[in-house]
Amino acid sequence: MAEGTRPLLAANWKMNPVTAAEAADLVRGVTEAARQHQDRVEVALFPPFPWLLGVAELLEETGVGLGAQDCYWEEKGAFTGAVSAQMLAGWCQWVIVGHSERRAYFHESDEDVARKAAAGVAAGLDVIVCVGELDEHYERGHTEPVVTAQVKAALAHLSADDSSHLVIAYEPVWAIGTGKNAEPEHAYNTMRTIRRVVADTLGDGAARRIRVLYGGSVNAANVESYTALPTCDGCLGGGASLKADEFSKMVGTVAEVYGHTPASP
Ligand code: PEP
Repeated sequence: MAEGTRPLLAANWKMNPVTAAEAADLVRGVTEAARQHQDRVEVALFPPFPWLLGVAELLEETGVGLGAQDCYWEEKGAFTGAVSAQMLAGWCQWVIVGHSERRAYFHESDEDVARKAAAGVAAGLDVIVCVGELDEHYERGHTEPVVTAQVKAALAHLSADDSSHLVIAYEPVWAIGTGKNAEPEHAYNTMRTIRRVVADTLGDGAARRIRVLYGGSVNAANVESYTALPTCDGCLGGGASLKADEFSKMVGTVAEVYGHTPASP
């Protein structure tokens, strides 16, 4: 486990749910489990932009973190449709950058991801940077160089001092939303690589401070197989985080794993 932190269970709701009332129901459905296990697990919810303010009110005094799924690096100006990290900082503690869906559907480059990560940290947010290889990279055994390059690029505008605000989520693209989750050994090796790249780029202290998550078809049945890995500081969930019961079970399992297993490498 990264120095001085709890494991993180992050819920990326993506473009769901469609109404504010459903978003509120989902929040109410997960806060009890989060509150019960808050000494052992840090929980953060990432709703779509329009629900952030309402969810922020519901999360007051719950100990559950709130984050956005993306941000833009400029602070303000003529950038129609964009939301800056500065704007989010009033409501959110967190922001996700570099999710593979942003990279694929919105053509975000490694440089865009690096600028967003730096803007998030500069605005005072904790930033989850997503990295992960495509199916073709995985099939050819190219995960390590692909992920290494993504991590190095994402850190380009960050310093060692920023590392306590940094989380890197390893999300193999072929595992996202497909039900094909990665073998724990593959996840273990890649998360170890990520920490090594951070050590090489920002130093050993930074590598000890960052948290590294696994994401990709994580659910209540398999979350333990990742969180039990000594390289893993938590998980980023998508589909499973839209089901309050399932996500609540995941919170309980993560609490159990970290409560009983020494998780240092
Ligand atoms: C994600 O989008 O970050 C994710 C991990 O999705 P899923 O759990 O649905 O694969």
